[in-house]
Amino acid sequence: MLPESVDVVVVGAGNAAMCAALAAADQGASVLVLERAPEEERSGNTHFTAGAFRVAYDGVEQLRSLMPDLTDDEVANTDFGTYSEDQFFDDMARVTEYRADPELVDLLVRRSHATMCWMRDKGVRFAPIWGRQAFKVEGRFKFWGGLTVEAWGGGPGLVEALFEAARSNRIQVAYDARARDLLTDDDGIHGVRVRCRGRTQDVRAKAVVLACGGFEANAEWRTRYLGPGWELAKVRGTRFNTGDGIRMALDAGAMPWGHWSGSHAVGWDRNAPDFGDLTVGDGFQKHSYPFGIMINADGLRFVDEGADFRNYTYAKYGRVILAQPHQFAWQIFDQKVVHLLRDEYRIRQVTKVTADTLEELLPKLEGVNAERGLATIKAFNTAVQTDVPFNPNVKDGRGTRGLDIPKLNWANPLDAPPYEAYQVTCGVTFTFGGLRITTEGQVVDSDGAPMPGLYAAGELVGGLFYFNYPGGTGLMSGSVFGRIAGTSAGQAAAGA
Ligand SMILES: Cc1cc2nc3c(=O)[nH]c(=O)nc-3n(C[C@H](O)[C@H](O)[C@H](O)COP(=O)(O)OP(=O)(O)OC[C@H]3O[C@@H](n4cnc5c(N)ncnc54)[C@H](O)[C@@H]3O)c2cc1C
Repeated sequence: MLPESVDVVVVGAGNAAMCAALAAADQGASVLVLERAPEEERSGNTHFTAGAFRVAYDGVEQLRSLMPDLTDDEVANTDFGTYSEDQFFDDMARVTEYRADPELVDLLVRRSHATMCWMRDKGVRFAPIWGRQAFKVEGRFKFWGGLTVEAWGGGPGLVEALFEAARSNRIQVAYDARARDLLTDDDGIHGVRVRCRGRTQDVRAKAVVLACGGFEANAEWRTRYLGPGWELAKVRGTRFNTGDGIRMALDAGAMPWGHWSGSHAVGWDRNAPDFGDLTVGDGFQKHSYPFGIMINADGLRFVDEGADFRNYTYAKYGRVILAQPHQFAWQIFDQKVVHLLRDEYRIRQVTKVTADTLEELLPKLEGVNAERGLATIKAFNTAVQTDVPFNPNVKDGRGTRGLDIPKLNWANPLDAPPYEAYQVTCGVTFTFGGLRITTEGQVVDSDGAPMPGLYAAGELVGGLFYFNYPGGTGLMSGSVFGRIAGTSAGQAAAGA
């Protein structure tokens, strides 16, 4: 049975929701978390992540405050560099084509480190992302993409730590509990109507925090808002984020905000299941394309694989792959770079072919015009500026010359067999459109006024991401705005 009333109801049980719940409890509020999923599928997309957090830091000492376990040897063998608040802010502005709401970005950036310290104090542990974000060159690791820290144990480790903290803070979590509507009148929001294990019940609350994800798992909404063809995308994570929170808030008068036709979408195994599989996690992604080339069914390259570090291109290239004939591409690598391929290329559930010659490889690439594909590779090989040294840790400028679609960095002729090719399609991660919030995390109505009693955080907040996304920002924004929304909700409840 659900309680009839609490101070704060949090809808959802992912990273944003759990941070909101903990922050509301910090204010002395009694908190109920409603999770639509059964317990074994709890925590939505958060559970599927690698747990990478984009955080601003001035140097290794600030990292040590997040990761006190770092040893002197580890520090000596690694160039962590810095990732300043200004760099984080500029990255957000640049990749979103200067559309991201500067007030929200300012909060995200300037509270990133303090929020992670707060999470550490709640029991979440962090570690450097040696494997995926640093290459070893001349005996020393160097972080290259502004993304240095991950939760210990990845997404599952993060979830475990957040739920442990919730337990110690006496936060109640109800599973199989789907929020359906907000209880609302002229004075504001007073709770939620919940369908829990087949029964509908009202839970009254002094404040409600919506943190129940975007609409990425709703094929009909994807087609309606992202556009035709998006019903064909695979969903990388949870099947439960179908836009309920956004719909409930809009029904209550909230303002739609942000990039409603935009989403985070990546190259994802062509034969992955329709929704995420928790035993594989993020393993279906294939993010090492900057070191190879991609060709489509027509045998043509269609995008600059080396335009930027993968952290700044991967989230927009899923859309580009979806737009190709039959919605797929093949990524092709040779032996010069296979040691650079991320761990996800070595999982069992992978769509992969190999061959000793290019002439043998192309006919093996299902669905591809082999003759044109071979011509594409030969033209690419002769266009590579081999006089420029290759270096995966920097944008090395080793590009191509004379191709219609250039490759700006990390270009290598495909000439070292055996060749490896991986088939990908579009995997949607989360949607960018959602609700408008104030800097206190309060939802804004369609006249621009804050809605009494209603707060929001996480994927369903609009205004942060447009067109693209810098890797590791989803969790960070969920934490920063979850903490803000939960604090505000807790304070509102205390004052009610
Ligand atoms: C495979 C994968 C890898 C990723 N890797 C990273 C990464 O390394 N770093 C990073 O920053 N981001 C990553 N992301 C993005 C990241 O997962 C999200 O940005 C972030 O987890 C969103 O958090 P959230 O709390 O808003 O949503 P979620 O974690 O999805 O939580 C939403 C919750 O709401 C629940 N829910 C939905 N509807 C209802 C309802 N009506 N009532 C009650 N509950 C409801 C869901 O069951 C779920 O528990 C990844 C995503 C995927 C899919």
